[in-house]
Amino acid sequence: MPVYRQNRLARLREALNKTDADALLVTSIHNVFYLTGFTGSSGFVLVTPERAVFITDFRYKSQSADEVKGYEVVIQKGRWTEDVAAVVRESGIKRLGFEGRDMAFDTHAALAKKLDGVELVSLKDVVEGLRIIKDEDEVARITEAIRRAESGYTENLSNIVPGVVERDASLGMEFRVRTAGSLKMAFDTIIASGYRAALPHGIASEKVMEAGETVVIDFGAEAHGYQCDMTRSGVIGGPDEKQADIYSIVLDAQARAIAAVKPGVPCKDVDAAARDYIASKGYGDYFGHGLGHGVGVEVHEAPGVSPMSEDVLAPGMVLTIEPGIYIPGWGGFRIEDMVLVTEDGCRVMTGLPKVNRF
Ligand code: ZN
Ligand code: ZN
Repeated sequence: MPVYRQNRLARLREALNKTDADALLVTSIHNVFYLTGFTGSSGFVLVTPERAVFITDFRYKSQSADEVKGYEVVIQKGRWTEDVAAVVRESGIKRLGFEGRDMAFDTHAALAKKLDGVELVSLKDVVEGLRIIKDEDEVARITEAIRRAESGYTENLSNIVPGVVERDASLGMEFRVRTAGSLKMAFDTIIASGYRAALPHGIASEKVMEAGETVVIDFGAEAHGYQCDMTRSGVIGGPDEKQADIYSIVLDAQARAIAAVKPGVPCKDVDAAARDYIASKGYGDYFGHGLGHGVGVEVHEAPGVSPMSEDVLAPGMVLTIEPGIYIPGWGGFRIEDMVLVTEDGCRVMTGLPKVNRF
């Protein structure tokens, strides 16, 4: 098992010690991947003080032998819940923690039936609490995802011109991002032009892009199971005065937020740095989403960067800073970069230039 995965298992046991469960059943496939490196679609992890068990089915027999090191691998013969129950009984577990946010109601009922006398304890954010801080291996993977996304975006700029259909521009980018090595896009690419740029999540449509329209391009790639997420926006053919003015407000708001990123700072204060500035310029009603979010195995993960967030920044967190202004009928801009929180501030990971014209 690579050292970083050994560390994750050790940290998981430490975290488990702070709960009132004796063992943890991990059902979230993202958490299973984080702990074991398993890239298949069905696998479960059971961690007790003495044992680390990985359960999967026949389809993944060879794959799990290759990918999953340092765990007892069990190939299920019947239902996986039976294998979980067997390990729980053998290990004398009295209180079994499970991921309440992930486990289906029916699975819980089936497990409870098989585990008479064992208490099932819903736990929150045990593995997610580890994932919030990225180690060197993870930062390297995210960096590679960013490289792939940026390469595809840059090569595809020739498609962000008047007369091109948003979906064709999106397809062109996907082809280039995948040519750069990404197995898939991190999420459906947003290319939203003109009135559609006022939709914060306008997936590329059949609309033709026209000169003078604002356009928002939000996209991401993956590398070795890690994601990235970035947005560039501007005006096709170059901005008029109002467009240039609003663009520079978004850009300045982002710079203020990035300057606020430092260990110990509440995420909601970073959100406020951008939000208050946009409000002071009179556009507060046109920035309705959170400022950012963590990125890692999933595109959206902890920490949250919004007015409701209770997370506090710490070194090793990777998050997006993405203020926007969206005016119905007029268009909109968003600029999204990823930053890595360092010991004394942050490092911007996204390298794409910010320009306000296409
Ligand atoms: Zn995004
Ligand atoms: Zn984002």
